[in-house]
Amino acid sequence: MARRKKLYEGKAKILYEGPEPGTLVQYFKDDATAFNAEKKDVIDGKGVLNNRLSEYFMTGLNNIGVPTHFIKRINMREQLIRQVEIIPLEVVVRNVAAGSLSKRLGIAEGTALPRPIIEFYYKDDALGDPLVTEEHVIAFGWAAQQDLDDMVALSLRVNDFMSGIMLAVGIRLVDFKIEIGRVWDNDFQRLIVADEISPDSCRLWDIETGQKLDKDVFRRDLGNLADAYTEVARRLGVLPSNVTHATKPHLIN
Ligand code: UDP
Repeated sequence: MARRKKLYEGKAKILYEGPEPGTLVQYFKDDATAFNAEKKDVIDGKGVLNNRLSEYFMTGLNNIGVPTHFIKRINMREQLIRQVEIIPLEVVVRNVAAGSLSKRLGIAEGTALPRPIIEFYYKDDALGDPLVTEEHVIAFGWAAQQDLDDMVALSLRVNDFMSGIMLAVGIRLVDFKIEIGRVWDNDFQRLIVADEISPDSCRLWDIETGQKLDKDVFRRDLGNLADAYTEVARRLGVLPSNVTHATKPHLIN
């Protein structure tokens, strides 16, 4: 494909101008970062796996009527998406205590929560994405009350969908992060799921063994990250068909 104009480069993805107005091309890199980019590495094949996995989850969500930005996969590392205006919040949904929740509130990792808990973090790398309340969100105009209600409803539907498909392959969905964007259909504004849904942004634990199959493998030096993501893709039946293991990036660069 002819190289398109780069619009934005983040830690794990690049956004290029799309072929039509209102579309973008999202490119998945092999870069892995953690702790606000203090820990960095390149994991061969991660981008290919996340492109496939995000396609799989977002296609499923679109099919059950949860709107997402995903239009179609273009190649091993790129997908066509709808351009959205990103709401500057990371929406985290938790089913089981882990990570920052365990640390902040002293709840042992692995404790089942009485109900899904939704948290909002303000997207600002310089501030380290601080936890914020709905009061902050509304007072500072990041989203309106109606948007927040829609974001909660959307997030809970994503949680139910993702929990179900993971359970079916023996994986517990501990928590995940999504980003949400605004789109306009004529004068009507709606919120849709944007960014990516992949093991980079979820905690996934094997139900039997508790083995971690997500980015904590990288954050906590627990083994080979591409192997963990490959295992998730294999169980879901979405391994790239022409490879038996994570592909090398030079194949399509
Ligand atoms: N998460 C993410 N991006 C971030 C922060 C968190 O995708 O910038 C995901 C993370 O992978 C986990 C969930 O959100 O699935 C909750 O993360 P937590 O707040 O426990 O923070 P962490 O322990 O990752 O610092």
